Amino acid sequence: MNAPIAIIGTGIAGLSAAQALHAAGQDIELFDKSRGSGGRMASKRSDAGSLDLGAQYFTARDRRFVEVVQQWQARGWVAEWQPSLYNAQDGQLSASPDEQVRWVGSPRMSAITRAMLGALPVRFSCRITEVFRGDRHWSLQDAEGNSHGPYSHVIVATPAPQASALLAAAPKLAGAAASVIMEPTWAVALGFDKELETRVEGCFVQDSPLDWVARNRSKPGRDTHFDTWVLHAGSAWSRQHLDLARETVIEHLHGAFAELIGCAVPPPSFTLAHRWLYARPAQAHQWGALADADLGLYACGDWCLSGRVEGAWLSGQDAARRLLEHLQ
Ligand code: FAD
Ligand code: NAD
Repeated sequence: MNAPIAIIGTGIAGLSAAQALHAAGQDIELFDKSRGSGGRMASKRSDAGSLDLGAQYFTARDRRFVEVVQQWQARGWVAEWQPSLYNAQDGQLSASPDEQVRWVGSPRMSAITRAMLGALPVRFSCRITEVFRGDRHWSLQDAEGNSHGPYSHVIVATPAPQASALLAAAPKLAGAAASVIMEPTWAVALGFDKELETRVEGCFVQDSPLDWVARNRSKPGRDTHFDTWVLHAGSAWSRQHLDLARETVIEHLHGAFAELIGCAVPPPSFTLAHRWLYARPAQAHQWGALADADLGLYACGDWCLSGRVEGAWLSGQDAARRLLEHLQ
């Protein structure tokens, strides 16, 4: 019997690769350091319902991704979000409607990766610290000192800074991953008992610590008990305030929100802050995926393409395609 393929990371890139390999009849085993799947598309359960603190929505422009999103929609995993969109610049708030189709997981962002994972074999709360090759096969070492294997191939589907250490067996791949700078994002959720008197449901922000705000209840299927808003600080502000205490970050971003939203903002009855250390690649790449096909080591993730959900999904497909081609 052939050894299975190990995939490290159950974000959308790892699961995209997993689905493609499974569909081609390959055995796979998935690993993730978190308690559940989704990575940066995960949703946080809270007193204010389920909150999308990472990816807010996604667009589909590549034909292959458009087709798969249509299938997800037919299965009820995603729904179209049609927010009343605004733009805030120099303290001026203005309506900014457009024709772009935007998708969200339904009833929460994590529904997509949860459904993609299905019954595939996975080990959660398992941080892989080392990937090494024996005579014929690969083994993985986790942070608790357990080893896993043997595997025929390994796909590393983590953010680039975490991938470079796991790719040490292929120095070229490790070097490419190490060259990718990933920017942080501070995310804050504010929940209000009483609905804020504004028509804004999503807002692109310039000239502020914030670069995005969204009204959670405007997304299909979300909890409407509180009027909860998700605020994202821009990369520069997040980098400069990386080690600030959560309470201070909430205070700053609450202030910036009150300044831009154009209506009275009472003290929130619910607050939460989350720091994404590796939120987005500083620039896009055209790698598709990284591969050392002779060794059997691959890497994929949003950082190999566009730094968006679509790029991550396409990158996972590319890693799987290259691996399958080499098997023939
Ligand atoms: P990830 O989702 O990061 O998955 C990697 C997985 O690997 C994680 O689950 C992690 O736990 C696991 N992992 C890491 N290291 C290890 C290890 N050593 N061992 C085991 N497991 C490990 N994109 C959009 O298209 N639209 C948006 O509106 C949008 N907004 C965003 C807002 C924020 C705040 C953030 C953070 C991201 C946003 N993105 C958005 C980007 C989008 O979320 C990502 O492009 C996409 O989710 C990346 O998927 P991925 O599978 O490549 O990586
Ligand atoms: P998109 O087409 O909706 O947005 C792309 C960019 O175009 C926006 O960032 C915004 O600057 C501009 N834009 C789009 N519609 C606009 C409108 N109606 N009014 C004013 N400006 C508008 O979506 P996409 O290309 O799929 O990009 C995904 C989004 O995810 C982007 O906004 C990106 O900044 C965000 N993102 C955030 C992080 C993070 O860490 N915070 C990480 C990755 C992606």
